[in-house]
Order: sequence, then structure tokens, then C-alpha cells
Amino acid sequence: MSAFESLPPHGPNGSIEVIAGPMFSGKTEELLRRVRRAVLAKQAVQIFKPERDDRYAKLEVVSHDDTRMQARPVSDSSALEAAVSHEDVIGVDEVQFFDDGIIDVCNRLADRGIRVVVAGLDLDYRGCPFGPMPLLMAHAEYVTKLHAVCCETGGRAHFSFRMSDGDGVVQLGGTAEYKALCRAVYNKVYVRDHVQGTKAGEETGKAAGENARSK
Ligand code: ADP
Ligand code: MG
Repeated sequence: MSAFESLPPHGPNGSIEVIAGPMFSGKTEELLRRVRRAVLAKQAVQIFKPERDDRYAKLEVVSHDDTRMQARPVSDSSALEAAVSHEDVIGVDEVQFFDDGIIDVCNRLADRGIRVVVAGLDLDYRGCPFGPMPLLMAHAEYVTKLHAVCCETGGRAHFSFRMSDGDGVVQLGGTAEYKALCRAVYNKVYVRDHVQGTKAGEETGKAAGENARSK
């Protein structure tokens, strides 16, 4: 039994649950697992995803091991709120891509009695907190941090390392572009590939060698 399942069952009051972690840590799998259980309990459920994430399917949420469920793409947090009507449970995948309005939207939906389950990357590839995630985690009743398997050591991976070049922090990708790394390996390869190579310095406006994560 997971720590989450040992919590009291949901009553009439809404709540916010955040599932956070690096790429490949099983956030989408866990989101879908919770949503499936709500479906079994005959609750009205709707999954949302940001429109920009069309990597695997436009109208589905898909995990890296191909678990999938139907989802409604929305352009921003206002569109998401407008699309919610009678649901008992809503799921949101890739919530880090939403605008900051998503924090108030999640709170308003939870205040209405809806169970709001969101999954997202806690850190970007530079190791900086990602978009609305820090505040979502602060407002949530329940926070679950997941870890992937480090591609180098087999240990617990907390970081998503971007292997490919690209512009900006947001770059959609999968195993070809990103790999999960533990702290020790991430620190070594990030400094080698991004800080010494000045990529991180350019993107964060910080001098090479300065810790981009303190942003
Ligand atoms: P996330 O949403 O956190 O990116 P997913 O739920 O989509 O993760 O995918 C999790 C699945 O990814 C795992 O069950 C496993 O099959 C696969 N996977 C691929 N690479 C890794 C890795 N390095 N560590 C853990 N799982 C991985
Ligand atoms: Mg995912």
C-alpha cells in the first residue's frame, strides 16, 4: 500500500494532490492509476493536458510505457476552469506547462469540492523549479515525490538531464532528448556539458560556473 492510500478516504471536501518528479519517474502512470480508481468508484472524471504537449497523442495522456487515457487539451488555466462542470475528480498532466493562473484555478476547483490531481516536473533540465510547481506543492494537501532510475548508476534519479541542444527551457522530448540522473551524476555532467560549455550561462544570464539552480 502506498503512503497515499493510507490517507483517509476523500470526503465531500475537495483537495489538491501533486505528483512531482523528474522525467520517467512514473508521474503519468501514477496520475492514471489514481484516476482509474476514481472511475472504478463511479466518480465523474476528466483529465486535462496542456495543448502544447502533443508528443504522443493529441487527445490522450500517454505514459512512457504506453499506458494511456483520454484527455482534453486546453490552451491555458482559464480554458481548463471553463471546461470543468460536474466532475468529482479532475486530473491534469504536465501541469508545469500551465501559466501561474493554474494555482488559483486548482484552489477554486478544490474549494468547490473537486478532487484535483495534478502531475508535473518539479525541476527543469537546469535543476530550477518549474513554472507553477513550487506554489502548487505549497497549496496542495498531498504531495508525492517520485524518482526515476538513474541511467548511469541505477540509483534514484531526481534530475532530468537534457542531452540535445535547443532554445529555451521548454523543449518537449522523450528518451532521445532527456535522461534521468541521480544528483551526483547530474552535477558532474551538467557542469561539464552546460556550465563549462556556457550553455547554462547563456540561458540563465549567469556566469559560467555559477549555480544555475539558485534561480
Ligand atoms: P513521467 O510521467 O514521470 O515522465 P511515465 O509515467 O510517463 O513517467 O513513465 C514511467 C515509465 O517510464 C516507467 O514505468 C518505465 O517503463 C519507463 N522508463 C523509461 N526510462 C526510465 C528510467 N530511467 N527510470 C524509470 N522509468 C523509466
Ligand atoms: Mg508524464
